[in-house]
Order: sequence, then C-alpha cells, then structure tokens
Amino acid sequence: MLPFSEALKKILEHCHALAVTSLPLNKLNGSVTAEATRTLFPLPRFDNSAVDGYGVKTADLTKASETAPITLKVIGEIAAGQSADLELAQSGEAIRIFTGASVPKSVDAVVMREFCRESDGSVSVESAIVHGANIRCRGAEFAQGVEVIKAHTRITPPIVGLLATLGHAEFLVHKKPRVSLVITGDELIAPGLPLANSEIYDSNSFALEAALNDLGIDECKKFYARDSREQTREAFAQALSESDVVISSGGVSVGDKDYVKEILEELDVETIFWRIAMKPGKPVFFGTFKKAGSNHKGLAFGLPGNPVSVLVTYHQLVKPALLRLMGLEEMTNKDQIMVLKGMLRKKVGRLDFVRAKTQVNSNGVISAIPSSKQDSHMMTGLANADCLVHFEQEAEELQDGAKITSTPINWHG
Ligand code: AMP
Ligand code: MG
Repeated sequence: MLPFSEALKKILEHCHALAVTSLPLNKLNGSVTAEATRTLFPLPRFDNSAVDGYGVKTADLTKASETAPITLKVIGEIAAGQSADLELAQSGEAIRIFTGASVPKSVDAVVMREFCRESDGSVSVESAIVHGANIRCRGAEFAQGVEVIKAHTRITPPIVGLLATLGHAEFLVHKKPRVSLVITGDELIAPGLPLANSEIYDSNSFALEAALNDLGIDECKKFYARDSREQTREAFAQALSESDVVISSGGVSVGDKDYVKEILEELDVETIFWRIAMKPGKPVFFGTFKKAGSNHKGLAFGLPGNPVSVLVTYHQLVKPALLRLMGLEEMTNKDQIMVLKGMLRKKVGRLDFVRAKTQVNSNGVISAIPSSKQDSHMMTGLANADCLVHFEQEAEELQDGAKITSTPINWHG
C-alpha cells in the first residue's frame, strides 16, 4: 500500500493553480494573490503625527522641566485630513496637532497632549523632547516601489487592509475551485427527518461542506446516490461535468456495494492511486479527469464513509490540494514536534493519525494527549481534538513522553 507521504506527493503533482480573476476588496479575504504588488507611494505618504499633541521646535524646550515649564504660544491647529500649510514662524510657538494629521516642515517633534497644559492660547510644557518624537516619517515603513505582497499569498484581513491602504479597489487572485460532493449510502437520511431501524443521519455532506466553507469555498454542489451502479454513475457523471474537484463519501472500499472506484473508471477518471497505508482512511481513491475548456485536469477524491475518516483524509490530503488550486504554493499543514502523554500501541503497516488534544506546560513544551475515542466512527474523538499525532507506519509502540510529530488541525488553511 502507498505510504501517506507518497500519496500526498502524487496528489500535489497533479495540482495546478486555477485561472485568475479580479475581485473587489470585500471579496478578497481567503483568496490567493495572482500577482505581486509594490508600494505605489511611500508608506507613510507624508510626515504625520502619531499622537494628539503640540507640534514644536525641540530647541525651544531644551530647558523645560516639571519645576520650570516652558510656555509656547499656540498659533493654530491641524487636524487629520487637513493640509499642513501652517508653519512655526519663530521660536516660542506651537501648533495643536491631532493623530494622523500632516506635520509641517517647521515642526521637528510633537509633544503628547498628556504632558501639556493649554490655557488662553498658550501651552506649557514640562519636559524636553527629542528630535523627531511622535512623528511618523514619510517612507519610514516602505519607500515607493518596494514589493510588499508577493504572488501566491493567502489574503488575510491585514492583507485586505494593506491592499486598501495602497489604493487597490480590486486585486488579481486565483479562482476558487468548483467543488461537488457525491454522498453515497443506502442507509443515509437527512437530519431532521425521522429515522427507521437501521438508518443513520448523513453527517458527511454537512461536515465536508463546512470544511470547504472554512477554506473560503463558499458553495459546493451535492449529489446523493443510493448504493446502486446506476445512481452512483448518474451522480458522478453530473459532478464530473461541472466541477474542478469531486469529493465523494463512502462506497470506495471492497464491499459488494462499493461502486465508487469502478464507476469513476468507467467515467474515464484516470486512477492515480487507490488505498493508502494510513489510518483512518485506507480506501482513499485519487484520480484525474479531463475538464472541458481547460488544459489542466480535474481531481476526483473518493473518501471513505466513516465520519472521522472522511474529515481526517480531507484535512491531510484534500485541503492541501484545494489550496494549491487556489494558488497557494506553501504547505499550510505545518507539522510540529510534541511530547506524547500516555502510551500508544498498534500493528505495523499503516501511519495512524491519532486524534489528540494539546496542552502547553509552563516551559512552553507542547504535549499531545490522545483522545479516548479513536474509532473512525467516533466523531467526538475528532471533535474534541486539535491535532493529529503521527504514529508512524512501521512503529508498533510509542512510550509516554516520546517525541512525536503532529499536525495541528486547522480547517481554515
Ligand atoms: P462505507 O465507506 O460506505 O462503507 O461507509 C463506512 C461507514 O460510514 C458506514 O458505517 C456508513 O454507514 C458510514 N457513512 C457513510 N456515509 C456516511 C455519511 N454521509 N454520514 C455518516 N455516516 C456515513
Ligand atoms: Mg456505503
């Protein structure tokens, strides 16, 4: 069986960033930039005040102290958004100035309002001040023409803010994939409806949809198929015809009613692999299919039906692929070294992703405490976990206190 790391490598080899599109600022969060951007002007663009206070010449205040305050004449004020055409004409003068307001050339420091007392058009200052204090200088953050955002950057709220600061009303990003879910199973009933004897509620379609939403993929199509060749074929045929990525749940193992692999192959999906040496998630299928009007192929993932398996395989294999299609080049599942609390035992042959909760001790050491509910149908074990401990393929035992690799669970990126 294919080791997990090779399966992930094979998947990523088939991922190409989707075409680009321009989106307005309020739609950019979560997308990935398709171009770099440079500062179109220096940041800050003009000298401005960092505080509410008084613009002064430092030379006037060299002798100021609590016992001998110096009084300056207030000759006017400059508020944020006003131009700085008022200047200190001679020594002994001050200008009332507000945070973000343009600082005139003749001012070489701004004294915070908290250290001044103003009355009758004069201000008394109780301490000296250094040259440049409380002035945010033009170009202090970046000069004009410097690259401040690279291509292939995931857009976060500060990046939206930075793009707006630079004056972009819209920006070029990669399109998000069109994703379809194919949910298989005779036993499934929609939540909210009554259950008969051996029926269960369909949870996978909602969990996967939520995971896609968390990634910034706001919509997905859902197709349901009973466990018959005809219905499975019909659902996949439609899903494949209108998607960049098709993700199915269930029916991908070796049971008599598991039609996913065979139907996908019938529908010209090229099998890249089927079955991985991982737990949960052994029966995962991955293939590619031709998309109309594109040089790049679509991706088909046949995920297992067990609710924990579907989400763990999504997190470890599908999410990295979706992010690549969205234009991201770096891996966002950033494995960490942690210390295991408790002992683990398993058979050799599969990499076990053990659901665990982290704890940070007073020295900053991160421990991972495995959940007591490790079976792949036990959703509480995953719901209460925040990391997946790697119990390596060929290992049989992990001792309490062992150093282990672990993937933090992160649905967003
Ligand atoms: P399968 O992979 O189809 O053999 O399904 C494995 C297990 O997952 C079975 O116990 C199914 O009942 C369960 N299962 C399959 N699909 C879903 C679903 N959409 N929601 C919840 N459980 C499911
Ligand atoms: Mg099934």
